[in-house]
Amino acid sequence: APYFPNEGRYESMQYQRCGKSGILLPRISLGLWHNFGFNDHFGNARNILRKAFDLGITHLDLANNYGPPYGSAEENFGRILKKDFLPYRDELFIASKAGYDMWPGPYGNNGSKKSLIASLDQSLKRMGLDYVDVFYQHRPDPETPMEETMGALAQMVKQGKALYIGLSRYSAEETQKASELLKEMGVPLLIHQSKYSMFERDMEAEVLPKLQELNVGSIVFSPLAQGMLTNKYVNGIPENSRAKKDNTYLNLEAVEAKLDQIKALHEIAQQRGQKLSQMAIAWLLDNPAVTTVLVGASSPEQLEENVKALDQLQFSEEEKSAIQKVLK
Ligand code: NDP
Repeated sequence: APYFPNEGRYESMQYQRCGKSGILLPRISLGLWHNFGFNDHFGNARNILRKAFDLGITHLDLANNYGPPYGSAEENFGRILKKDFLPYRDELFIASKAGYDMWPGPYGNNGSKKSLIASLDQSLKRMGLDYVDVFYQHRPDPETPMEETMGALAQMVKQGKALYIGLSRYSAEETQKASELLKEMGVPLLIHQSKYSMFERDMEAEVLPKLQELNVGSIVFSPLAQGMLTNKYVNGIPENSRAKKDNTYLNLEAVEAKLDQIKALHEIAQQRGQKLSQMAIAWLLDNPAVTTVLVGASSPEQLEENVKALDQLQFSEEEKSAIQKVLK
């Protein structure tokens, strides 16, 4: 069936400025790491993207090797874009990345100019785009001079193949150095992406303060700890969950080790009149250094539930300390 987007899509979503740039991002963004590959259900992937756009989620996060197989999330996204979203291309802010294993041989991985430039060209072809809105170095590569990596990123912007540059998984120190190099090359660093959730709080110590100091936006991934911070596991581990799949970094032991905390947080969420997923997202958005929370979803319903986090973003001091106690 043809797609007619929700005309009220910009009324309920909240948008936040990304660092000191001209870009506003939705406070909840969608990632295509899981559920968009050739191994997944195409119709479901398409419905998730339609739901995202209907909810005002303008920012979509991809990478060269999302799938499986590698490249297939971008290819499927390109197909869906062509079917449903071409009239709305300019309403979308689309990200891709390179820096992890992608193709065989010495140039299909890491941070050389050779690898990054070729990877972006491949991504553009797969998605059927002339340019991406933001391109990331997916992870720091200590073997390649940072001047070379940043030079490649700056070249992409100068060639018009990427509008903005992002860095993923860079430490505070690496971000500082990279942003200085980019600045010298006339390309400001737009955004930084790293893992942050109630269960993974490493960013709080150095990275987030550094991003605020540098006026760089922050998009945080796996905000639901890949589903652990939802109602999914409150009553045990269901068959249709990421924890039960191969090819994932979430495993049964990890879930079981957290089950008591998950249940305690679930209770606090209930007292707030919220789902656990919604509280987990609201808690991240309460941090002024966080621009947007980058969720994944295996169904349109999950995404809809997650976006309702925006209905209740406030925390009382009592709630904050009750959460803090569970997380300790
Ligand atoms: P999340 O922590 O949001 O986990 C998403 C998963 O949690 C879903 O696929 C689903 O899994 C489950 N879930 C989500 N909502 C609900 C709900 N309401 N109820 C029950 N279960 C729910 O994020 P991801 O780990 O998926 O990461 C998000 C994005 O971040 C990625 O797509 C990618 O774009 C980016 N990312 C970037 C990385 C980097 O190195 N830069 C690394 C990792 C991710 P289920 O299948 O069990 O239903």
